[in-house]
Amino acid sequence: MRFATQCVHAGQTPDPSTGAVMTPVYFTSTFAQRAPGDHDGYEYARVHNPTRTALEGNLAALEGAAHGVAFASGVAATDAVLKGLSAGDHVVATNDLYGGTYRLFTQVYERFGLAFTFADLTDPANLEAALQANTKLVWLETPTNPLLRILDIARLADIAHAAGADVVVDNTFATPMLQQPLALGADLVVHSATKYLGGHSDVILGAVLTSRDDWNERLRFQVKSTGAVPGPMDCFLVLRGTKTLHLRVERACANAERIVAFLADHPKVGAVLYPGLPSHAGHDVAKRQMARYGAMVSFTLKDDRVETAHALMSRTNVFTLAESLGGVESLIEHPTSMTHGSIPADVRRAAGLSDSLIRLSVGVEDVQDLIDDLSAALDTV
Ligand SMILES: *Cc1c(COP(=O)(O)O)cnc(C)c1O
Repeated sequence: MRFATQCVHAGQTPDPSTGAVMTPVYFTSTFAQRAPGDHDGYEYARVHNPTRTALEGNLAALEGAAHGVAFASGVAATDAVLKGLSAGDHVVATNDLYGGTYRLFTQVYERFGLAFTFADLTDPANLEAALQANTKLVWLETPTNPLLRILDIARLADIAHAAGADVVVDNTFATPMLQQPLALGADLVVHSATKYLGGHSDVILGAVLTSRDDWNERLRFQVKSTGAVPGPMDCFLVLRGTKTLHLRVERACANAERIVAFLADHPKVGAVLYPGLPSHAGHDVAKRQMARYGAMVSFTLKDDRVETAHALMSRTNVFTLAESLGGVESLIEHPTSMTHGSIPADVRRAAGLSDSLIRLSVGVEDVQDLIDDLSAALDTV
């Protein structure tokens, strides 16, 4: 099956007992057995639930993986991967990471004896320098948030594998529609399905996809032993979301490209950060490893003051001022004071996060309404 067909069908068959075309939401904690140990694969719903099984099959197919394991959130999915390591192991991660991932690594797992090195992996030489004899995992995220930097997955995977380390890619921003990390050499893909996979900003869920049987066993063990599982209704909502993933992402990318062209020509706009722009430092790599450049757009104002950015984003009407991303609705936010507020100002500026940086999650509305909205707000600052 091709991608769009997988979006609609993978992991799902009409319900064998009723013929229901849509996967039922199995609200049950336990399953009847014919005799002790004689059952159809379902015993207790922490370990397996049929709605979750359908979702896991769907997400695995979309990433070209043999196995899918769903968790209660993207952070819980990340947590389950880390629990596959042991005290004394070392992880190299890109320095431009999702804030919650950085917090989990440094404030939880460092206390349990894992060691982390954060490096600018836009230059693969920095990975070679950061690897140690005990490096077990290389953690990548591309495009990054909010600077939309691009990492060369295939090149970094080769370097990591030569040193005996496994590679994880957080594919939340790109989605499997635009980028397939396993085909590029990654061992594991992590998703916050809260974003594009769910696609409607109505659910929190995460998943890990892999074709490695050993990792699948480790993750299944975590599901059973640490139990951060999603409920069946949440699984149903994400399954409903992925049915239109291809349509939503296509439209959102097209809208983002038009908005980038508008911003690039606007006299009050400073830099526009979008991997689809030939001037973007990661453009050539993005062109190679992504089908399109995504629907996240960041830009700065020539008037680089926090107050000006705040004024702009409190004056949009179609774009909603909110954290998160990947839903059908367009969102606008100020990383410096919202999602990335915990990073000290000097560290933030050194990383290229200027005070006026504004991040857009472009949705699927009529693009002219989105452009008119930004245009009117820019006129007022
Ligand atoms: C939101 C997000 C996460 C965390 O996912 P939750 O579902 O919020 O727990 C991880 N990585 C990226 C890139 C994200 O955007």
